[in-house]
Amino acid sequence: RRAAFAQLRNEIPITRDGHRVQVMVNAGLRDDLAALDLTGADGIGLFRTEFQFLVSATLPQREAQRRLYKDVLDAAGDRAVTFRTVDIGGDKALPYLNHDEEGEEENPAMGWRALRLALDRNGLMKAQARALIEAGAGRTLNVMFPMVSEPWEFDQARALFETQRAWLAARGRKMPSEIRYGAMLEVPALAEVLDILLPRVDFLSIGTNDLTQFLFAADRAHPKLALRYDWLSPSILRFLKRVIDQASAAGVPVAVCGEMGGRPLEAMALIGLGIDRLSITPAAVGPIKAMVRSLDRAPLVEAMAGLLANPHGPLRDALTEWAVRHSV
Ligand code: PEP
Ligand code: MG
Repeated sequence: RRAAFAQLRNEIPITRDGHRVQVMVNAGLRDDLAALDLTGADGIGLFRTEFQFLVSATLPQREAQRRLYKDVLDAAGDRAVTFRTVDIGGDKALPYLNHDEEGEEENPAMGWRALRLALDRNGLMKAQARALIEAGAGRTLNVMFPMVSEPWEFDQARALFETQRAWLAARGRKMPSEIRYGAMLEVPALAEVLDILLPRVDFLSIGTNDLTQFLFAADRAHPKLALRYDWLSPSILRFLKRVIDQASAAGVPVAVCGEMGGRPLEAMALIGLGIDRLSITPAAVGPIKAMVRSLDRAPLVEAMAGLLANPHGPLRDALTEWAVRHSV
């Protein structure tokens, strides 16, 4: 099977009825870049920039950040890369940042992390913005912000980037041809104000790891809870469907970048909900490409709508049955 997946490297993930699905990889370090060519992925849908900070004993300087981002873009060539601004704090504490000025956090996942920390300590994000803009000279730069909970946080983060862009432009630096700004949807509250958010963003990326832990109030790393809540629960799938439908109606591209998209049955369900961009762990690219290539999308979309209208518990069994019946 391993050999069979390796052969899929040059195959395009397109369904039997001709629907192209973008299959991209999640990455975070230079070592991950080889996965692009090994898997034949369409690009990097989530570059976790905090990894460079987590493996460093001291705060990575702007120049070291710029070099990493440039290497990432060079490795990707014509393929798209989406950089996520640092998602540190919470359980990813950095020894060289003074995190606990307010004392230990009881709920780090819901704590002072990601964009919340970045907006408060904006020197950190200013340096990162400059590093990203410089690295993206001459090409499209896709930037997304983690843990956006309210539209104004996105506005603030985007404005910070635009100020740095203007600063660099005024000094004659070569600019990216375009900067596209997106929000991660991983805090459920954001879904209630999508009508306000969507006109502001260039794209949306659903982080199903955090999203599902917040939807179910269930720690994503707790072993006793791992089997209790299913990604194929009607609550999650209905939630996703509303978000996907609303984003699609507004013409905003929407991707899924959490682990859910790397599992064939879950990815099939996502495609049935209208997702056509997945960013997944590199090892999953082969299996997901194989699933996509065996799929007829139109009947799946119809089946999903029916199953979600009248579910009797998680849709895992029903979707497995559908997959078997349709030889997926
Ligand atoms: C997510 O939350 O789904 C996600 C992709 O981000 P991370 O796993 O890095 O929190
Ligand atoms: Mg997350």
